[in-house]
This record gives sequence, C-alpha cells and structure tokens, in this order.
Amino acid sequence: MDGTTQFDAVIVGAGFGGMGAAIALKRLGMTNLVIVEREDDLGGTWHVNRYPGLAVDIASVTYSYSFEPNPHWSRLFAPGSELKAYADHVADKYDLRRYMRFGAVVSGAHWDDDARHWVVSIDGQEPVTGRYLLTATGFLSQPHLPDIEGIDSFAGRVVHTTAWDDTIDLTGTRAAIIGTGATAVQLIPEVARKASALTVYQRTPIWVVPKLDAPIPAVVRRLFAKVPATQRAARAVSDGLLEGLMVTAVLHYKQAKILNKIAAAASRLFLRTQVGDAKLRRALTPDYDFGCKRPTFSNSYFRTFTRRHVNLETTSIDHVEADGIVTVDGRKTEIDTLVLATGFNLWDVNFPAIEVVGREERNLGKWWRDNRFQAYEGVAVPKFPNFLTLASPYSYSGLSYFTTIESQMAHMTRLFGEMKRRGADVFEVTDQANAHFLDRMTANLDDSVFYAGSCSTSRSYYFNPQGEAALLRPTSTANAFKEANSFPLDDYTLSSPAVVG
Ligand code: NAP
Repeated sequence: MDGTTQFDAVIVGAGFGGMGAAIALKRLGMTNLVIVEREDDLGGTWHVNRYPGLAVDIASVTYSYSFEPNPHWSRLFAPGSELKAYADHVADKYDLRRYMRFGAVVSGAHWDDDARHWVVSIDGQEPVTGRYLLTATGFLSQPHLPDIEGIDSFAGRVVHTTAWDDTIDLTGTRAAIIGTGATAVQLIPEVARKASALTVYQRTPIWVVPKLDAPIPAVVRRLFAKVPATQRAARAVSDGLLEGLMVTAVLHYKQAKILNKIAAAASRLFLRTQVGDAKLRRALTPDYDFGCKRPTFSNSYFRTFTRRHVNLETTSIDHVEADGIVTVDGRKTEIDTLVLATGFNLWDVNFPAIEVVGREERNLGKWWRDNRFQAYEGVAVPKFPNFLTLASPYSYSGLSYFTTIESQMAHMTRLFGEMKRRGADVFEVTDQANAHFLDRMTANLDDSVFYAGSCSTSRSYYFNPQGEAALLRPTSTANAFKEANSFPLDDYTLSSPAVVG
C-alpha cells in the first residue's frame, strides 16, 4: 500500500456484520483496519435495542458465528443482553476493539480513481482513506417514525423501541403501543405486565407461531463446552428446522405450498388455544400468506390480548392529542406514554445508509433507484471498485443474519485470496456478472410466496416501493455458501497499478 492510503480497509458498522468482515480481513492478513461506528459502543442492533422482552427469535445455537460457538447461552432463545455480551466477547477474542472508532457518523464515501482508494467522510472529523470499503450498516438500523398528525403535541413521553432506556417505567401507567411487528410481539406482553391499561394499535396482524423456548440446563451447557460437536449437532437441527420454515416454505412456495399452509395452520391452531373470543381471533388473524412478512415467535403474545386491561385497537389512528390518541371514528383513548414499535425504514434511507459515489460519479442510491435494486451475490456493484456492500439487496439469507455474514466472509476470502495471488489491488464486478445474478434472483422469486402467494395486504418491508421483493436472497442457504466459495473469478476484473497505471 502506498503512503497516501491510510487503511487497508474502512469498515462502516461495528455490529456482527462489521466484526465478521474484520475477522475475515484479518485472516487474509489485512490488519491495518478502521471500523467506524455512529453509536458509542459495539454490537449494532444488540447495543441499540434495549426494550423489555428483547431476545433473539432465532435459536441462539443458530444465531451466532459458527466458528465461535457460545456454550453459555442461558436459554434456547437468549435474551438481548446475552447477545450484547457475546458481541463484546467476539470483539475481545478477535482483538477488534483496537480498530473501532465510536461516535463516528459517516456521511459519505467516494472512490478516488487516481489514488485507487476510498475517501470516507466522517461528521466533524478528518476524512479517512482505505483501499477497500465495506459497509455493514445493517438492515434494521434507521428507525421509522410514523407521520401521525399531532404526535408532536402529545404531552406525555413518546418513545421508539430503539430509543428505550432504563428510565422508562410503565408501572401503573396508561400506555399505547403502535405496531404489531416482531418487536411489538416481544414488547407487548412485557408492557402489559406493568401498565394499568394498554392499548395496542394494529394496522396489519402478524403470523405468530409458538416459541419452543426453555432454559438450557447447566449440564447441557457443560456438555456444549466440553464436546463442541454436541452443540454443532444442535445447531444442525435448528438450522434444518429454520431452513424448512423460514426459507423453503417462503422461497419455494410454488413447490412446497403444503409447508407454508402447515405453518399458517399451526399459527391459527395456536391462536385458537390462546384466545377464546372468535372476534378477537379474527382481528388477530392475517389475511395474507405466511411468510409475506417476517413470521414471529411468541408464547405469550396472543394470550396477552385476553387480559382485561389490554385492548386491541384495529380502527385507524386519526390524530394524536396532548393526552391521547383519537381514531378515525372519533373515539379517544387517554394515555400517559406512547410507544412506537413502528419498525425501520429500509428502502428510503437504508439502501445505502450513506451516500456512496463510485467510478464515473455513479451514485449508488440514485443508480439503485433508477436501475432496480441489485448487488452481485449481495455484495458487489459495477462501477464501485473495491467496495463490498454487506447490507444489500438480495443479500439477506432468510435463515439467520449469521449465515448472511458468514457467506459474505467466504466471498471475501475467495475474492481477496485471488487478488493476492494475482498481485492485484483493485477489483470490480463486471456488468455482465451483475446482470446475470439479478436475472437469476428475479427468476427465482417467481417461486416464492412473495410473487406466487398472496402478499398484497401484508405491507411487508421485504418489498421495495417498486413492489419487488428485493431484500431476501431467493436461494437456499446452502446455495449462498456454495456460490460464495465457487463464484467464477472472472466475474470480477482485477487490476494492479503496474498493469493499469
Ligand atoms: P416491523 O416488522 O416493520 O413492524 C412495524 C409495525 O409498525 C407494523 O405492525 C406496522 O404496521 C406498524 N406501523 C408502522 N407505521 C405505522 C403507522 N403509521 N400506523 C400504524 N402502524 C404502523 O418492525 P419491527 O417489529 O421493529 O421488526 C422489524 C424486524 O426486526 C423484524 O421483522 C425482525 O426481522 C427484526 N426483529 C428481530 C427480533 C429478534 O428477536 N431476532 C426481534 C425484533 C425484531 P403495518 O404492518 O401495517 O405497516
């Protein structure tokens, strides 16, 4: 590396994605790294989210790096605090903290063709330069604040679930929660335990299946620690179940509709066992196919609505006043605290999360919007040399975020390994390879519940504003790994200063 480039790589984001990228680069011998992070600590979503009830809803043996199993999970589905502790452990074990700069808000990055490096702008700081740029900015990192009339005039506290802190005590208060997504499914039973009255504003019901959760007995944890193969076996079982439920039933809807229907029937049956009132059951039953939006797992969500002080409100909100919420039929519910479990803005502000300008002044956000959202193998885009975008269209493996990260790490290993072999310092994916990948993913989606099923009423963030389900990678997890380890190397042009310059 010449003297004008500060870092081998600039990684944006110190969550599990950014840490996975750093581990992969270190294994490849790149140790001159910087990880820039807007928050004040590492862990990404598991640092930011602290709402009551926060836990993984993918079994912890699966929701973790396969190369760093954690035998100490207290439950099958670990609480959020254990995920944060696990992130801290990984950062320490792989010596990643030394690279991290917290409170560093990246405003943009542009490729300098002459210097053959990225220039990354950071608010209030000197820009940094890196041979490679990797953005690991997550999918669910930009909170969505609903534009409801009068919300600013509310006299009590309004809090989005990502802004929860320990000073919020809802004991004995009248609370309202807007939203019934995966976050609300975890939060609602917890708030109902404390609040004297809880009104939940539901716009779209969600599919909920039982969560097969339990404490992991100490003897099993000791076994996992002593004989790691036993935990690997548990992971294989969990991966297999999730691949069936979250991947095959969703992405191969055409071929395996029965799996999808069984999952929906299981949810309906579960609801029947939890809620006696037929009207309430109807209100809680989705009218779109299972998997159109992310299914959720909970043993207490449905039942909570049968409690006397909990009210499910399905009439649309008209406006908020200083002391309550008014629905379009003119009814007002007086409340003390308003909780926004309204999710995240993916498509407008997260793709990409920062302004990225590549060769020939191509602006990634504009190009995606003008030419469809796309990224070769969910990581690379033509005219963006030396850039891997890890939170991309078609990158998210439906199984677990960790399978996404690890397949991307495998992609990096193959790509950077070849660059090293050829003495190259710049890579760029070809237009042809990128177009071919997009065509394949588009064709695969025809089999999915998104296109072959009934999703029009789901309001799912899996769909972009153009109506394309461009978030999940529509292949099996095994295929994602196979391609990461074997993609044609001439899908990239590799160059070195001696050849090009
Ligand atoms: P979400 O799934 O996008 O849900 C947001 C909810 O807010 C929806 O019910 C939405 O209704 C509602 N909403 C938004 N704006 C509204 C408005 N103006 N008026 C009324 N309702 C409004 O967000 P989330 O629950 O935060 O979950 C996001 C993702 O995070 C999940 O899908 C999951 O992948 C992840 N997550 C994971 C875990 C875990 O344990 N691993 C836990 C929590 C979350 P509509 O559906 O009608 O738009």
